[in-house]
Amino acid sequence: MRIVMKFGGTSVGSADAIRRVVEIVRAQAQQHQVVVVVSAMNAPTLRTTDTLIAAARAAANGDAAAAATAAPRLLDLYMHAARELATPAECATLEPQLDEMFAYISDLARSIAVLGELTPRALDLISGQGERCNARLIAAALRCADVPALAVDATELIITDNQFGNARPLDAPTRQHTHARLLPLLEQGTVPIVTGFIAATEQGIPTTLGRGGSDYTCAILGAALDADEVWFWKEVDGVMSANPKIVPTARTLPHLSYVEMAELSYYGANVLHPRTVYPVVRRGIPIRILNTFNPQHPGTLISKDGDSGTAKAVTAIKDVSLITVGGPGMLGLTGVAGRIFAAVARGGANTLLITQASSEQNVCLVVPQADAAHAVAELRRELAPDLSAYDVDHVDLQEPVVVVAVVGSGMRGTPGIAGQVFSALGAARINVIAIAQGSTEYNISLVVQDSDGERAVQVIHETFQL
Ligand code: ASP
Ligand code: MG
Repeated sequence: MRIVMKFGGTSVGSADAIRRVVEIVRAQAQQHQVVVVVSAMNAPTLRTTDTLIAAARAAANGDAAAAATAAPRLLDLYMHAARELATPAECATLEPQLDEMFAYISDLARSIAVLGELTPRALDLISGQGERCNARLIAAALRCADVPALAVDATELIITDNQFGNARPLDAPTRQHTHARLLPLLEQGTVPIVTGFIAATEQGIPTTLGRGGSDYTCAILGAALDADEVWFWKEVDGVMSANPKIVPTARTLPHLSYVEMAELSYYGANVLHPRTVYPVVRRGIPIRILNTFNPQHPGTLISKDGDSGTAKAVTAIKDVSLITVGGPGMLGLTGVAGRIFAAVARGGANTLLITQASSEQNVCLVVPQADAAHAVAELRRELAPDLSAYDVDHVDLQEPVVVVAVVGSGMRGTPGIAGQVFSALGAARINVIAIAQGSTEYNISLVVQDSDGERAVQVIHETFQL
């Protein structure tokens, strides 16, 4: 098999963690062609990317010394780990390379301080240095464990547009560069250790794929290399049937479909962002979520077809507000829904849930609590003529509320699931304020009072014995 696997910042955040990574890669490389993508070190006391970005911003405000202090601290973090993981000879090669990178950052910060301006392009140059350090460190650690490995900067592989800070890959040149650079390494049995997060334009100018972009790097390379599987090593055993802090009996889901993963990530489960993994989803490449700190656990497999089953997981989004717009004149008032959504968008609120019963007497929307007041103000402004004509008689706000979502593609076409959900909630005397189910039937969402949120999740989890 050919596997592209990514280790996140915490999975490579200390010498101890990297030692585990080395063991995992060593075992897999004996049986498979492996490409490894790494984030920068996210050490408990020093988060590389955050530190680099803060230094760049400080420089723009005239404080070049911030970078001058951050650079040696970061160098120390990486070299300290290197000395635990690699031979003195490897360290002697590594140190001047890292030293040069951090010296470059300090120089850049000085120029930024002189100019008093931080362009997105300069920020990308600075913020991606951690990945470059870490790929070199981890490749050295692997070589010292007798695994042939080579650090490769993704600037040589992933070609993007020039949207600095949030660049998008160009498929054809990325595929071409990736094949040319990585296939020979794989054929000779070398494990490429590729920097996450960074890429370059066609002219070779460094870009980044957005915060948390290493997952995207992994998916882009998995797709470009026609990988058999793409693995994300994280700090959890996989995707869970519910938040274990709310439901102690929650368990890891062995298998999810792509659609279920997308529904769950929308509803706040901390999995993979659907846009991030789109390159592999589009090609039907299976994804695994695995735990660096518990590598024996089988994790969660995410593929085109989920296994059977009805409801699979239940999640909750807290700190949201319910806005209700209603009135006797809304029946048959054409265009009112469009105006409502446009007003909410103008208020800067992201709508999480919408319901309108066919009586058309009211429209309910759920938005994040932080945006609700703005959204309501915009709505009242937009609907002022309708309010004075009494077509609309109220724009109400109820907060905080909780959205509880039951997800599972097996719910599609299975009668009675909604009935089970509502009977269970009724038996537990939990009042449901609003309900939404998209016609894909992968998700039933309901709005309950804040104080009922956790209980609702527990009751549903129990009902379906998730
Ligand atoms: N190091 C980058 C960040 O913190 C990318 C990543 O970790 O995925 O955003
Ligand atoms: Mg990260």
